[in-house]
Amino acid sequence: MRCAERYGNTIMETIDDARWEQIEARRRDDTFRFGVRSTGIYCRSGCPSRTPVRRNVVAFPDAPEARAAGFRACKRCAPDDGAPDAEAVRTIERAAALLSSDDPPSLGDAARAVGLSRFHFQRLFRRITGVTPGEFARALRAERLRERLRAGARVSDAIYDAGFGSPSRVYGEGVLGMTPGSVRSGGRGEQIAYAIAPSSLGRVLVATSARGVCAIELGDDDDALVAELAASFPNAERTRDDGALAATLAQVVALVDDPAVPVDLTLDVRGTAFQRRVWNALRGLAPGEPATYGAIARAIGNPHAAQAVGAACAANRLAVAIPCHRVVREDGDAAGYRWGVARKRELLRREADARAERARRANVRSSTDEIDALSSDRPERRATRA
Ligand SMILES: [Zn+2]
Repeated sequence: MRCAERYGNTIMETIDDARWEQIEARRRDDTFRFGVRSTGIYCRSGCPSRTPVRRNVVAFPDAPEARAAGFRACKRCAPDDGAPDAEAVRTIERAAALLSSDDPPSLGDAARAVGLSRFHFQRLFRRITGVTPGEFARALRAERLRERLRAGARVSDAIYDAGFGSPSRVYGEGVLGMTPGSVRSGGRGEQIAYAIAPSSLGRVLVATSARGVCAIELGDDDDALVAELAASFPNAERTRDDGALAATLAQVVALVDDPAVPVDLTLDVRGTAFQRRVWNALRGLAPGEPATYGAIARAIGNPHAAQAVGAACAANRLAVAIPCHRVVREDGDAAGYRWGVARKRELLRREADARAERARRANVRSSTDEIDALSSDRPERRATRA
């Protein structure tokens, strides 16, 4: 029987028989850490220290959780060192593979299959992937649903096939970021207006749906831009309307010319829950302060997802408004850009220049202040010198 108790802000588990056996036998086992309440120290199984009294022992999925509960690392077994994370990642990968199968187990069964309690499973899964197993399972169901809808299944059949209990869950949770009908139809029944104008980065296409700006594309050729829009919304009724979109287009062009300019655009953002988390993080990046894919992955609590972050950047349809151009490789290289890496480099250069210019002005201001301060000092200084 496992149970969990509250300890400060953290929940921890009393030790189960299998783990206790490992500890008593001093077998190295990196799948968990244990804390000793009487000493406030945590160890890995296999620690050469004296075996603690069992009732004082609590289990943690890993070292960070033990620290979060206020325990300190043992000096003898160095429970923070290397291996455990790799082990934990493998465990969670196995669980993720099970949940991704065609006939996924319940979360409880998945936890048991990888030898974790529901509680540890939950914590470890979240720490490694950034989402709870439940969220992960829901995202997979949404993905299956999307595939089935694209394959042309009837909406109600697809919903049940994908593992959702009822259509209201799908609509209610906003699983798809749009209604199932509109995914299947590639925008069928939607009216999308677009306009094209020149900018300092070439031609800009802006498209709006009833909900807001749904696409901003950059390119050299109007026909290619229109084709991009058609690929994104194949079944929508797409109409060019430069007049109606004049104001929006002007705002977007201003934004492309100077990404630091404040604009007030309502965006119709369409993507998976993960993509939207990445895009939200991007919108928090200041102009001139690019981040790496890894940093965005960490910022959304999903440190192993740098590649998925890259994919989400590549899936962005709203150039500059969702500033995926501010994400670069670890070595500072611009990496890829949906609208051409040359445009990305140019955007980054402009933003860096603008930032340097702001810093220069701020310096000028502060040195003017210093000069003022110095001149008011002067009589005193003279007095000291005299
Ligand atoms: Zn120890």
